[in-house]
Amino acid sequence: MSLPLVGQAIAFCRLSAGVRELGGTRQVLTRFRSGEAEKESPASGRDRRNRLSHQRKVVQNLCGGADGLQDYLDFSRHCYNGASTTMLDESIQELLSRSLGRIASANSLEELEAVRVDALGRKAGLTQFSKEMGKLAPEERKHIGQLLNSARQQIEEALESKKQYFAEPDLRARLGAEWVDLTLPAPGPRRGHLHPITRIQRELEDLFVSMGFAVLDGPEVETEYYNFDALNIPAEHPARDMQDTFWLDGGNVLRTHTSPVQVRGMERLGPPLRMIAPGRAFRNESVDASHEHTFYQLEGMMVDREVSVAHLLFFMKTLLTAIFKREVTVRLRPGYFPFVEPAFELDIQCLICGGPGCPVCKQSGWVELLPCGLVNPNVLRMSGIDPEEWNGFAFGLGLTRLAMMRYGIDDIRLLQGGDLRFLEQF
Ligand SMILES: [Zn+2]
Repeated sequence: MSLPLVGQAIAFCRLSAGVRELGGTRQVLTRFRSGEAEKESPASGRDRRNRLSHQRKVVQNLCGGADGLQDYLDFSRHCYNGASTTMLDESIQELLSRSLGRIASANSLEELEAVRVDALGRKAGLTQFSKEMGKLAPEERKHIGQLLNSARQQIEEALESKKQYFAEPDLRARLGAEWVDLTLPAPGPRRGHLHPITRIQRELEDLFVSMGFAVLDGPEVETEYYNFDALNIPAEHPARDMQDTFWLDGGNVLRTHTSPVQVRGMERLGPPLRMIAPGRAFRNESVDASHEHTFYQLEGMMVDREVSVAHLLFFMKTLLTAIFKREVTVRLRPGYFPFVEPAFELDIQCLICGGPGCPVCKQSGWVELLPCGLVNPNVLRMSGIDPEEWNGFAFGLGLTRLAMMRYGIDDIRLLQGGDLRFLEQF
């Protein structure tokens, strides 16, 4: 609905109201002419205002006073407003039906938006009609107001349902594509399994706990004191040259063995003491099939009265039987470790090649598995234990190497390579 059209409608309303008014007046004047002596004034050539003024006088006389005049004015206003209301009514109905027709035939959201702007926009359609309401009598204003509200509501509803009609094909496509059967059982999280080293570590922990040992943990970043000095490895000692160490800023080190935990255990718990310390250790090694910069150890120690090499051998034998679940060929040879005295090297015959030699045993047929010995009195003394009253044994076990022996892994790099094709075999 355009603005000029609204204006025309309103103008026509007024014109037809004037005609009705005249018609009403004629009836009144005919009654007057037939029953009374007064003559009608030649009003046809004058403007409408003069006519109304004249009629007011005539009717005032005819009706015999102000009350009669008021009746006439009410009648006249009714004629005027009735005509105006009818025209507005028709215009609103026309706009409504035209808008509904456009909505029904619309083929896109853009077309719907154009209908919305024309019919409901701030400067068009129903809004313009509602501005004309101020010129109406209260009871007519109510009627036209209801009509406007109803038209607005019908147009809004038609727009909304047509929008949903456009959205439906999209919705159907999505429902088809994103369909999920909620009644199917959920797949659940994928279960993994323990790394072979972790498995061996836990087995050994269980074994030693069953023999009265405590499982202790310690920091992987150690002080120089705990990693070397307290283990009877002073600064000038050649043992420090034997271990290429990752030194950190501030003088700390990545522990080169789990032995520092033994010192901490002795300090914290005191004798008598049975403990193991499994965990990660680090050395600045060139990596090859049998060397890694990061590896796992399990060290153990027993401090008590009158501990001998016989005790050491008993526990080592128990340990190896439990690990390999079969007889293994071992050999014991003198070793050199500053924190034990006497010191032994316990080797087992290579389980990969069975003796002839392979990369893991460095072609020797033997694998160095287990350094051990009786705890050096200096180490006991530094931890505040009297070596005259207490003594003990200590051993270190390479968990990484043990896992390789047990599972027949010929390359140490596979264990920390993170390759699932390898790890899923265990
Ligand atoms: Zn071998």
